[in-house]
Amino acid sequence: MGVSLTVLGTSGGCPGPAAAACGYLLRTSSTNLWIDAGAGTMANLLQHIGVSDVDGIILSHEHPDHWTDIQGFWVAAAHFVNPPVENVPVYAPTGLRDHVYAPNLQSNVFDWHECEPGDKIQVGDISITFARAQHPVLTLAMKIECEGKVLAYSADTGPAFSFRELGDHFDFAWTEANDIDEIIKRDAPDSHISGRQSAVMSKDAGVKRLMLSHIRFIADREKVLEEAKSEHPDVFLAQENRIYEI
Ligand SMILES: [Zn+2]
Ligand SMILES: [Zn+2]
Repeated sequence: MGVSLTVLGTSGGCPGPAAAACGYLLRTSSTNLWIDAGAGTMANLLQHIGVSDVDGIILSHEHPDHWTDIQGFWVAAAHFVNPPVENVPVYAPTGLRDHVYAPNLQSNVFDWHECEPGDKIQVGDISITFARAQHPVLTLAMKIECEGKVLAYSADTGPAFSFRELGDHFDFAWTEANDIDEIIKRDAPDSHISGRQSAVMSKDAGVKRLMLSHIRFIADREKVLEEAKSEHPDVFLAQENRIYEI
């Protein structure tokens, strides 16, 4: 089957009109890894795989647009499938679990691992190395290695972070691109990046193919892309429920 990335949601900060918040499904021939679980992403996830098919979950940080759908996943995993799903590994920054509703009740479903920048984990045949993104709370950017491919995901970050901290060659990467350059530099210079900033950083780090996601629903998406295209030769906007072969 090869490696693929299914986009479960692309809306930055919160869901938008008919658009889920952030989430992705990374699949290899033997492993299904759910990366970020913002509102609406579980509804999309279940269009592609079943509740019992999730081999692991990574949550990049505690902002709610990146994790709240694991609450619903717990209900379905514990009560809607037979046998119930147990011990799905969840990797998240230290402290995120404190925000979860009824974490002790969920202990049979989730096997929580608190992670720090520099940690390296393994889910099935997928290896993940974490680095610290530039964001107001502890946020895990990541390098993902599987079936000979190297991918990277910035999570939410300001421009002080670079994929170079994780390597200098990536077959595929995706980042946030919260809004156009002028608005990011004025309103969120230390916590988010524009499509243009993403493109500059990604090109410098040897990213062959770049996908932009986590775009605010009030942003001009085409302008975000246009700015990025001026800095990177192969960049596109993430489309919800599209499957990208890596
Ligand atoms: Zn976010
Ligand atoms: Zn955030």
